[in-house]
Amino acid sequence: MKHLILYEQFINEQETTEPIIDFSTTLDDSFTTHVIYPEHPEYSNLKPHFKKLGIAFTDPTRGKDIWIDGEKVEEDSFTADHIKAVEAHEIGHHILNHQPPYDETMEQKADIAGIAILKKAQEFEAVAILALRFRDLYKSNPKDYILKNSAREFLRSYIKNL
Ligand SMILES: [Zn+2]
Repeated sequence: MKHLILYEQFINEQETTEPIIDFSTTLDDSFTTHVIYPEHPEYSNLKPHFKKLGIAFTDPTRGKDIWIDGEKVEEDSFTADHIKAVEAHEIGHHILNHQPPYDETMEQKADIAGIAILKKAQEFEAVAILALRFRDLYKSNPKDYILKNSAREFLRSYIKNL
């Protein structure tokens, strides 16, 4: 099966038959993103995580890896900006020292951190995607969300060093 590659690191609209595509994350190259497709032998092990957590997941206790569901990437509406929005959210879990299972508060904080990371990277299309998701899910404006205490400090020092 052929998959369209839409990441900027590769030539746009290039196709691949690989069941997994790994690349370092442009927002922070210490992270590796893995887009895994249903033909991959490990996909069935990851699918329950995707079902529970949505399009992607990361486990900061197990390394700086971001796993993205290739089945979602195949959807026409999905763009390279969506990849960035997903990566920023998952990096947010790492810098805020979250450990799965994540609760709703952690999910909100990861979005807020993700938006800040994307703003610093001037990825404004991806900012809009994450902000819209936040408004839809939580019926509130991410601008009104205030990170407190340690979370705020973790985010501030991370952003400063980007
Ligand atoms: Zn999350």
